[in-house]
Amino acid sequence: MGSALDPHRVLLNDGNYLPIFGLGTSSTDKPVKGETVEAVKIAIEMGYRHFDGALMYGNEDEVGEAIRAKIADRTVKREDVFYTSKVWMTYLSPTLVQKALEKTLKDVQLDYIDLYLVHWPMGLKPSENELFPSDASGKILMDDVDFRETWKVECHPYFNQNKLLKYCQHNNIVLVGYSPLGKLNYSKFVSPEKPILLNDPELKKIGDKLHKSVAQVVLRYQVQRGVVVIPKSFNQGRMKQNMAIFDFELTNEEMKTINGLNKSIRYVTLEQLQDHPKYPFHDEY
Ligand code: NDP
Repeated sequence: MGSALDPHRVLLNDGNYLPIFGLGTSSTDKPVKGETVEAVKIAIEMGYRHFDGALMYGNEDEVGEAIRAKIADRTVKREDVFYTSKVWMTYLSPTLVQKALEKTLKDVQLDYIDLYLVHWPMGLKPSENELFPSDASGKILMDDVDFRETWKVECHPYFNQNKLLKYCQHNNIVLVGYSPLGKLNYSKFVSPEKPILLNDPELKKIGDKLHKSVAQVVLRYQVQRGVVVIPKSFNQGRMKQNMAIFDFELTNEEMKTINGLNKSIRYVTLEQLQDHPKYPFHDEY
């Protein structure tokens, strides 16, 4: 996990490292053409090395184009960049998973992706790896899949997932927090009536004291407790701001105060899945 020796990345149980900070690439409901490619290129120039994408985001081709451009101009090598993709929930059978992965690989035009997750794995258990064909075709290394490596959930001070984090740390699973800023671009996935995380007065007080923005405080809180964060911004100033979280530390007292802000608020409620038998997905793990 994020150690004092290397606060920038976490060790996965297959021996690879995952940068503890990355860029979310789910833009809006309808990505603007060209926006992702520009943002990812700028991000790589700034030092971002971890990108969180998905087939469902509809812009993997642009993420891939940007990564390839930055490899071609020698800013990075392929192995410097960690790309995560996800199989959408309607592709959960061995044949369909393979199809989805092939589509992603075709879109990004990279030889491999670093991590492949199940997007919204409601009701799936870690043992259900029969989803993935066990006979390695040679083309796609499905047999490298390990369900127990990372767990990606909504995570921020209003939904701090303390219990799950403890469970993950105990079981050698890396917790990745999505919507770490409280998902500001309200879309069809988000309930708009919830309190806005970045307006929290306690967080603002801590930020003011440290001369940091609230966004930086909440991102620092996560990396300091070993949670990987993938804030989304395609704005150059905010991308830069979000990265600047490794030059300060929160005191134990400040970490405690932030922990105390938990309200178990989920911003991403997926109301369109209300018909699912397990909705709202509060099962214990
Ligand atoms: P975030 O919590 O990252 O918030 C993103 C919003 O915050 C954007 O509107 C962005 O706007 C704004 N923003 C970014 N930085 C700042 C800042 N410093 N100050 C103020 N506003 C800021 O939400 P997301 O839901 O996008 O989550 C991040 C990523 O997590 C996604 O992009 C996706 O990759 C992943 N994700 C995965 C899910 C899953 O696996 N099931 C589900 C949901 C998300 P702007 O661009 O204008 O800066």
